[in-house]
Amino acid sequence: MTSSSRGIRPRTVVLLLMLSLLAAVAVRPMIRPGSPVLVEVRRRTPVLGTYATYIVVADSGSAGRILASMDSLARILDDELGIYGTGELSRINSAGRAHISDLSADMEYLLETSLLLSEVTDSLFDPAIGALVSVWGFPRQPVLPDSAEIDSALAVSGLAHLRIEGDTLFLDEGTLLDLGAVAKGYVSDRIYSHARRSGAAAALVEIGGEIRCGGDPSAGRTWRLAVRDPRGEGTLEIMEMDSGAMATSGDYESFFIKDGRRYCHILDPRTGYPETGTASVTVVSHSASIADALATAISVGGVTLAGTVPDSLFTLMIVITEDETGAIEQWRREAR
Ligand code: ADP
Ligand code: MG
Repeated sequence: MTSSSRGIRPRTVVLLLMLSLLAAVAVRPMIRPGSPVLVEVRRRTPVLGTYATYIVVADSGSAGRILASMDSLARILDDELGIYGTGELSRINSAGRAHISDLSADMEYLLETSLLLSEVTDSLFDPAIGALVSVWGFPRQPVLPDSAEIDSALAVSGLAHLRIEGDTLFLDEGTLLDLGAVAKGYVSDRIYSHARRSGAAAALVEIGGEIRCGGDPSAGRTWRLAVRDPRGEGTLEIMEMDSGAMATSGDYESFFIKDGRRYCHILDPRTGYPETGTASVTVVSHSASIADALATAISVGGVTLAGTVPDSLFTLMIVITEDETGAIEQWRREAR
C-alpha cells in the first residue's frame, strides 16, 4: 500500500460514553414491589467485522439466557450476511444467482429493503456496489486503484446489473452484492426484536455504531446515545431515547490519506470514488436497517439528498459537512 497514513477506528466513543453513562445502573438490581427483580446484563463481542454490544434488562432468572441466545443469533446472521461469512451472501456472490424461493427470510427482507432504500436515495445507496468496494480494498487493505480499474468495476456495479427473472435472482458476470451499509443496522434490529420476544423488559443492541434500543415503560429505562464529533474525540450531543434506532456513517471510520487527500470507505456510485465533503451523517429512525442505509447514502448525497428523504423513514438527521478549507458545518432536519 502506498498511502502515507491510514486509520481504521471503530465507533468506540459512542459506545464508551453510552456504557459509562449506564455503568451506574449496570450492577444494581431494579426492584419494584410485586414484580420480579430486574437485572441488567451486557456483552461485548465481535460481529460483522466490528464489535457489538448487547445490553439486556430482564428478570434475574432469564437475563443470562436471553443474552446467550442473542449471541447465537448474531453468529448465524454474521455468517449468512457478512462479507467474511460462508453463508448466503457468499453463495449468491459466487454463483451469481439464487432461487428467490430458496432465499432466507433475512436475505429476502434485506434485498427488498435495499431496493426501496436505493429508490428513495437516487441509487446513492447501492447494494450492488461490491465490485467497486473490492477494487478499493475496503475494509481490510485499502489501496488507490487506477482509473481503468475503477471504470471496469463501475461497469459491473449498480442495480441495473441485478435482476429478478421468474423465481431467480441474477447478478451479471462480475457484479457483487455488498450489504455492508445496511447489514449492521439490520442485524441490530433482528437481535433487538429477538431479545424482546425472548422476555427482555428492555434491550439495546449496538453493532459498529448502529444502534437499536427500547423497552417497556415499566422497565424505566431511557437510553442515552452519544453522537460523536467526526473530527475530534468528543461528542457533539447526547440523544435521549426510550425506543428507536440511530446509525452514523462517517469518513473517519475506515480511510487512508494519500497526497493530503482523504479516501474513505463510502463510495459514490456515480463516480467510483469515495465521497468527499461529508464528515458524518447520523440518522435517527424507528428502524436501524433504514437508518444505516440512509446514513451511508446521505454521506454520498449530502444535504441535497437529505432534504428529499420521506419523513416516514426518519425522525432526525444530522449532517456534518466539511469544506476544502476544513471548516465544519452542522445541518439538521427533523421529520414533520
Ligand atoms: P460503516 O460500515 O462504517 O458503518 P456504512 O454503514 O456507511 O459504514 O457502510 C459502509 C460500507 O458499505 C462500505 O464498507 C462498503 O462495503 C459499502 N458501501 C460503500 N459505499 C456504498 C454505497 N454508496 N452504497 C451502498 N453500500 C456502500
Ligand atoms: Mg450504513
